[in-house]
Amino acid sequence: MDMCIVGNGAIAKTAALAFAQAGLQVSMLTPPGTSVAPRVSTSPSAQWDARVYALNHTAFHLLSSLKVWGALDLARVAPVDAMAIKGDADKHGGELGFDAFSANVEALAWIVEDANLNQALDAALKFAPNVTLVQGRATSLVVSESLAAVQLESGESIAASLVLGADGAQSWVRAQCEIGLDYRSYGQRAVVSNFECEHQHHGVARQWFTGAQGIIALLPLPGKQVSLVWSAPEPLATELLRENASQLAARLSHWCGTELGALHPLQPELVRSFPLSLMKPHSMTAPRVALVGDAAHVVHPLAGHGMNLGFGDIVDLLRVIDERESQRDCGDERVLARYARARKEDVLLMQFVTDGLARLFATNLEPLRILRNLGMNLFDKLPVLKQRLIAHALGKRN
Ligand SMILES: Cc1cc2nc3c(=O)[nH]c(=O)nc-3n(C[C@H](O)[C@H](O)[C@H](O)COP(=O)(O)OP(=O)(O)OC[C@H]3O[C@@H](n4cnc5c(N)ncnc54)[C@H](O)[C@@H]3O)c2cc1C
Repeated sequence: MDMCIVGNGAIAKTAALAFAQAGLQVSMLTPPGTSVAPRVSTSPSAQWDARVYALNHTAFHLLSSLKVWGALDLARVAPVDAMAIKGDADKHGGELGFDAFSANVEALAWIVEDANLNQALDAALKFAPNVTLVQGRATSLVVSESLAAVQLESGESIAASLVLGADGAQSWVRAQCEIGLDYRSYGQRAVVSNFECEHQHHGVARQWFTGAQGIIALLPLPGKQVSLVWSAPEPLATELLRENASQLAARLSHWCGTELGALHPLQPELVRSFPLSLMKPHSMTAPRVALVGDAAHVVHPLAGHGMNLGFGDIVDLLRVIDERESQRDCGDERVLARYARARKEDVLLMQFVTDGLARLFATNLEPLRILRNLGMNLFDKLPVLKQRLIAHALGKRN
């Protein structure tokens, strides 16, 4: 076996498809009781998943090359044509805008439901020739010079040249390798839900950096629907979660009322929340082990890039494995060192930007409030810097 992937999320599944397509023999270890059979219907009448991702061009190209993009229910995918970001100044408020036309791309990103994405990945996995799906609980990881073996509770073991930790923020693989971690809670929860708006959203992803009330994003869904990600300070999040979805909609009208009109909850019972933290593992590799996705980095969702970073991990690992010298296997120390080097800039930059913005807008000091809004206005008028930021956000690699 060339690679044993531990995990069952979108990043693990995409990695399994990608490395199998590259000719590697892959086994994918998923927790007992999980399956890769389609779980949630995404027929046109199905409910809208409150968990959505803004996927960038790296994700689009990778998923297209694996024929997964074409397997998505595209009627449920919304392109993001523009972004409108607002600050929290009372007068001459900070404003920043991006659009697909100026960036010379078809869309800045695409909003895809978690269920839609996983259903397409599961369908592709069923037909992937080089992938063996194994259900079981891993108990230990034993690494020798030429192999890594994942021991299972059943007594079986999966030996491979490389173990890929795609097992999320609380990664078991990372813990087995004793890779240290810098962790910081943002003291915020992301409250998510979907709404129907009175007016068209015109494909605009809207975001408000409100200061005391956190960061509110309304992402376009097909039709006149939007998906909310409200990164709210814990006490406010608790309040929001205690209220019903109509009260949540009424609160939102304060920010988006003039543009989107009244909002109505799509599924009043469907309000979910996720605690937000920054996790910076001290390394993305260990002997015969590589980490990808949230196992390797967890960032604030304000830029909508956690999953995209994970797709970037897969693309770079694919490349260094493909370019390796013939005497090296896919878990060779040099190959892994090249992977770690390749990911450094992308990951550091995303950590720096998301963490910096989250902290900057969590402070309520008046001088900082003025400065950050002026900064937004200024940035909006600097075309070169703006183009560079857009290129990075799109996931453009040249
Ligand atoms: C509110 C919110 C909004 C977001 N919006 C965006 C966005 O717009 N765009 C974007 O790019 N990113 C976004 N993200 C980030 C994105 O959700 C994550 O980066 C992404 O889901 C990580 O995927 P993953 O597969 O690495 O991890 P996970 O989705 O956490 O999957 C890990 C998998 O590993 C499995 N697992 C765990 N332990 C084991 C084990 N021992 N053995 C086997 N399997 C195991 C778990 O069951 C799970 O299925 C957002 C995050 C939040 C919280």
